[in-house]
Order: sequence, then C-alpha cells, then structure tokens
Amino acid sequence: MTQGDARSNAIGVHQLVWVPGWSESECDWALQATKQAGYDFIEIDLADPSRVDGARTRKKLADYGLSASCSTSLSFDKDVSSPDPDVVQRGEALLLEALDVASALDAHYLGGVLYSALGKYTAPAAPGAESQVAALLRRLADQAQERGITIGLEVVNRYETNLVNTARQALALIELTGASNMVVHLDVYHMNIEEGDLERPVIDCGDRLGYVHIGESHRGYLGTGTIDLAKFFRALARARYSGPIAFESFSSAVISTEFCSALGVWRDLWDDGEDLARQARQFIQQQLDAARRAVLPD
Ligand code: MN
Repeated sequence: MTQGDARSNAIGVHQLVWVPGWSESECDWALQATKQAGYDFIEIDLADPSRVDGARTRKKLADYGLSASCSTSLSFDKDVSSPDPDVVQRGEALLLEALDVASALDAHYLGGVLYSALGKYTAPAAPGAESQVAALLRRLADQAQERGITIGLEVVNRYETNLVNTARQALALIELTGASNMVVHLDVYHMNIEEGDLERPVIDCGDRLGYVHIGESHRGYLGTGTIDLAKFFRALARARYSGPIAFESFSSAVISTEFCSALGVWRDLWDDGEDLARQARQFIQQQLDAARRAVLPD
C-alpha cells in the first residue's frame, strides 16, 4: 500500500465482512467480493496465522489487482502484557508468526491489538507491563523493518484492553519503543467511546497516524449510528491524512463464536455483506469528498 497525496487514501474492507476464515474458497470469495465492491485492499485477519496460506494469497491478490493489510490480536493465554513469561512467550511467537505470513502475502502493514489480549480485563495492567510490552514490540518492529512492514498499534476501548484506550497512550507506548516503523491505528468506533472528541486525537498523532478503521457506533451500516463521521473525516482532511482507511463491521452472521465473545457481538446487525460493503464504500467516498471540499483549498 502506498501513501499517496491527501486525495488518494487507499480504501479497504476487513475480511470479516465476508468470511470468518481463510480456506481457499473463503480467500477466493473474499477477494472477488472486495474487488466487486470497489475496494483497493482487503484487511486479512491473522488471529490464527497458521490457517492463512501466504504464498497462495499473494498470488490471488495479484490476480485481482488488490493489495492487503494484516491485523491480529492476542488471547489471554498469549498476552504479551502478562506477568507470566510463558504467556508472554506464546504471545511473541504468535506475533512473529503473523509477521511471517504478512510478509509472505506481501502486506506492508501489520496492526491490531498487538500489545495485550483482546478482551475485557478485570484489573489495571501490572506495573512494568508497558515497558515489558515496549521492549517486545521493538523486537517485532525491527524484524518488520527488514521486510518493509509497518507495525500499527490499534487503540481500542476499555472493554477490549486495559493498556491502550486513547491515542495519547498509543503515542506514549510508541515513544517508549523508539521504533521508527510503528504507527498509531485509530478506529472511530473506539474513539467514540474513549476520546473527548473525534478531532484532537488525529491532531495529536500527526505523522504517527498510519492506519484508520471506520466503523459505526453499533458496528453496523455506516450512517445509521450515532458517530459524527463527517467530523472525523474533516479531521483527517485537515491533517492531510493520506494513509489507508479500512471499513470494519461485525455481525454474528459471519464471525466465529470466539470472536463474538471477545468483541461483545451478540446480534446480527446485517446479513448481506455485499450490500453492506457496497454502501460503506460509497459512504466513505462521499465523506472523503465532502471533507476535502470543506477543508482543503482547490
Ligand atoms: Mn478496529
């Protein structure tokens, strides 16, 4: 994925709009549907990297003229913020495996909740968790650098991590790593829960903002929830954000029971992923165009 000028954000869609896994038939269908709905790239879920055939996916992506980003997240038994070294070691192994697969399928971005488990914690992070995680992420970033991959830390809400709930916390953690190929990944769904407004975090991140998720307050159809998405798109335009923008939506119609549980997805917000994705592609384009007209000189 290349960073173009402010008028050319690459627009992508998360694979979970289409398919829960990545078998050959799921891969083929997801890529075909992504292309048909007018997207530039697909975000491939590497929660279990072993089920993704990187070489085959790379070839199929080329066939469809699509690129890919990758995301992953950790479970509580693979939590790199844990005080238990065995748990941390399993987490690091998963992140390195995800990096291998991202590289094999020619992605240039690996992001997500890479710094803790994805799920509801019942206590604050242990003292020292941040520096422990920073050292580990630095090792990951160094390996990613050799493969031309940027590492993104997705900021998520309090029910999905206890470590990075705001853009400022992500910036502080990145600062602690000292890595140059690490960026903040903002998701407006989470910002709507945790941040004071939708513009300040974009300004605070500046050039460190490297990836954006667009999702509604209920994670269903864009424009049918309560988030002021127009305001967020104007903030991106004002910041001249030129990086990738991926649409993310979850319905129990597609995702696994395990993921439903981690994310608190208890109802079918939609059942027609094709209709949802087409509408989202159009919605995002309209918002980008309107925001650019509003804030950028001709
Ligand atoms: Mn997200």
